[in-house]
Amino acid sequence: VKIGIVGAGQLGRMLGLAAIPLGISCRFLDKAHDAPAAALGAIRLGALDDVDAVVGLASEVDVVTTEIENVAPEALEAAARHCRVAPPASVIAAAQDRLFEKQLFADFDIPTAAYSTLDGPRDAEALVVSQDRPRLIKTRRLGYDGRGQRLVSSTSEAIAAFETLGSVPAIAEELVGFAGEVSLIGVRARSGSMAFYPLCANVHRDGILATTIAPYRDADLQKQAESWVGRLLEQTDYVGVLTVEFFVTSNGLVANEMAPRVHNSGHWTIEGAETSQFENHIRAVADLPLGSTAMRGHAAMLNLIGAMPDRSTVLALAGTHLHDYGKSPRPGRKVGHCTLVDSSRSRLLRRFAALQSTIS
Ligand code: AMP
Repeated sequence: VKIGIVGAGQLGRMLGLAAIPLGISCRFLDKAHDAPAAALGAIRLGALDDVDAVVGLASEVDVVTTEIENVAPEALEAAARHCRVAPPASVIAAAQDRLFEKQLFADFDIPTAAYSTLDGPRDAEALVVSQDRPRLIKTRRLGYDGRGQRLVSSTSEAIAAFETLGSVPAIAEELVGFAGEVSLIGVRARSGSMAFYPLCANVHRDGILATTIAPYRDADLQKQAESWVGRLLEQTDYVGVLTVEFFVTSNGLVANEMAPRVHNSGHWTIEGAETSQFENHIRAVADLPLGSTAMRGHAAMLNLIGAMPDRSTVLALAGTHLHDYGKSPRPGRKVGHCTLVDSSRSRLLRRFAALQSTIS
């Protein structure tokens, strides 16, 4: 089986690495010839919204998938005339737009933060915002890792934020009071079988994922999340990995956003689960049986942001798994991550604290 992956970033790299032992080869589409996945397969140079480039990739492989949600859905639809495409373009299209994403969640009775749409400056002027009722203005498209967002606590700030964000269609979300943030990673095979990883607890700094600890042990929330995401997977005839991020509130889970792909909050699965999210995505899109999502212990993942720490210092801490994506340093850029796995949760947390203080 040959898989074409749109995007050759670190997620593409980890997908490519997972494919190798299965005897599956990957090719990539990216705008950079030296992107992180370059060592794992040939990179076809092209833009993610270039229909011809995506179709070109499709003509060389058995199935096209993506490591990034910002691929043009029409390019995937065109690719589907040449080979299989997974996940479906319709879900990728919904994930690209915060309004469509919220509407999709509503279709499945999955609760989200209350919001209103901002289509022009008039909508910002009409917004009821105050110190007691702040809102997060988020552009509908192309926002990620905290980009494309402004917290506002007055109508004049809302008007200014709408302008600073480029006067593009946006939504104004109510702030959710949350006790924590979790994500559920689910995977569905072509045969229809599904598997879910345990919920994991995520901490964001400046809108960027900083750490993940798994499992988040709450059987009721796990069941609730699995039933929502399971329905979404089934009814959209989804194939591959899907991630949904939630806020944990006093009223249960509230969905924040979804990623129709492998996700940063699932990097711990490489060492912490029987089958990683990357291998399960490859298995799903290659029409193979899914692997077990059982954990191999408690796991913690630390994102390395901005620049890589000294390799020997990190590796001197026993049991630390280091992943270096080979990216050049830049503030706010995810350049690698570390994972720890331990049979004891309290020992894991102690080791994790030591790792964090060594790196900072
Ligand atoms: P997002 O880009 O939507 O994932 O937002 C990045 C981070 O900002 C989230 O992981 C939360 O920590 C925070 N955030 C986003 N939306 C809300 C909200 N409605 N209420 C409270 N915090 C939020």
